[in-house]
Amino acid sequence: MNLAVASGKGGTGKTTVSVNLAKTFGMPVGLLDCDVEEPNAHLFLAGDLHGEENVTIPLPQVDESLCDGCGECSRFCEYHAIVSFGTTPLIFPEMCHGCGGCAKVCPRNAIREVEKRIGVVQTRQAGNITLIQGRLDVGVATAPPLIRAVKARLQSGVHAILDTPPGTSCSVTTTLRGADLVLLVTEPTPFGLHDLGLAVSMVRALGIPFGVVINRVGIGDERVHSFCRDENIPVLLEIPDDRRIAEVYSEGRLIVVALPEYRGLFESLLERTMVTMKLPRGGEP
Ligand code: SF4
Ligand code: SF4
Repeated sequence: MNLAVASGKGGTGKTTVSVNLAKTFGMPVGLLDCDVEEPNAHLFLAGDLHGEENVTIPLPQVDESLCDGCGECSRFCEYHAIVSFGTTPLIFPEMCHGCGGCAKVCPRNAIREVEKRIGVVQTRQAGNITLIQGRLDVGVATAPPLIRAVKARLQSGVHAILDTPPGTSCSVTTTLRGADLVLLVTEPTPFGLHDLGLAVSMVRALGIPFGVVINRVGIGDERVHSFCRDENIPVLLEIPDDRRIAEVYSEGRLIVVALPEYRGLFESLLERTMVTMKLPRGGEP
C-alpha cells in the first residue's frame, strides 16, 4: 500500500500525520519525504544516515556549428526551458526538467546532454521506519525529477507513506501518481476549507481514493465537516486542538510517543485506512 499524505496548503499538520502514522505501523514501513524543497520528517525520527546519492538530470547543450536555428527544440519544450528566435537557442537550466525531448527532436543532432546535479536522496533507518528523503539543491526550481528519484526507492512488498509537498502544483501530482489512497489534511477554518476544496478537485481529477484528516478540531467553524458530509468524503481522523501537541511538534518529538493518550487515534486512522483500502493490518502490501 502506498499512502500519500497531502494538504492544500502548508502548516496544516501533514508531516505530523505522516511521521506519527509511520511510528504507529509496528512493522517495516517506508516513509518518503517528497517535500524536497523543505524536507523535515527527519527532525522527528532520530535515525542514522545510511546513504546519500546525488541526483542529476540531463541538461541540453547546443553545438552552434551544427544548429541552423530551426526552432524545433523550442517548439517541443513545454517548460520554455529552451528558446530559439531563429538563431542558436538559449537554454534556461533552472526551468529544464531534463526530459531529453529537445535532443530527440533536433533534426541536426545539434544537442548533446550533460549531467547536472539537482539534489540528493538520503536514506535513514529509524527502527522499523526507512526514511527516504529528497533534498533539492539551492537555486534549483524543478522538483519533480528529484521526487521521481525518491519514489524510485520505494521497496516492493513494503508499505509506504508519502509525505507530499503542500499545495496542488506539479510537484504534488508527481508525488501522488501511483498512490493507493490519499489523506488530505486540513484545518476547520475558512482557509482550510478553501484549500481542501482545491485538493479534493485535484485528487478527483487524478482518480485516487481519498479521505480527510481534520487537524486542530475546536478552532474555526463546522464548514469543513459540512463540506465532507455534503461531498460524501470520509473523515478518517480528527485531531483536537491541544496546546501540548504544538509543543511536542516544536520540540521535534512524536505525538504517539510524547503523548501516548493520542496513540489510539493514530492506530484507528491506520485501521480505517486499511479498511478503506480493504487491506489486512500487517498483511500483504
Ligand atoms: S530537456 Fe526537456 S525540459 Fe529540458 S530543455 Fe529539453 S525539452 Fe525542455
Ligand atoms: S532543433 Fe536543433 S537545429 Fe533546430 S534550433 Fe534547436 S538545436 Fe538548433
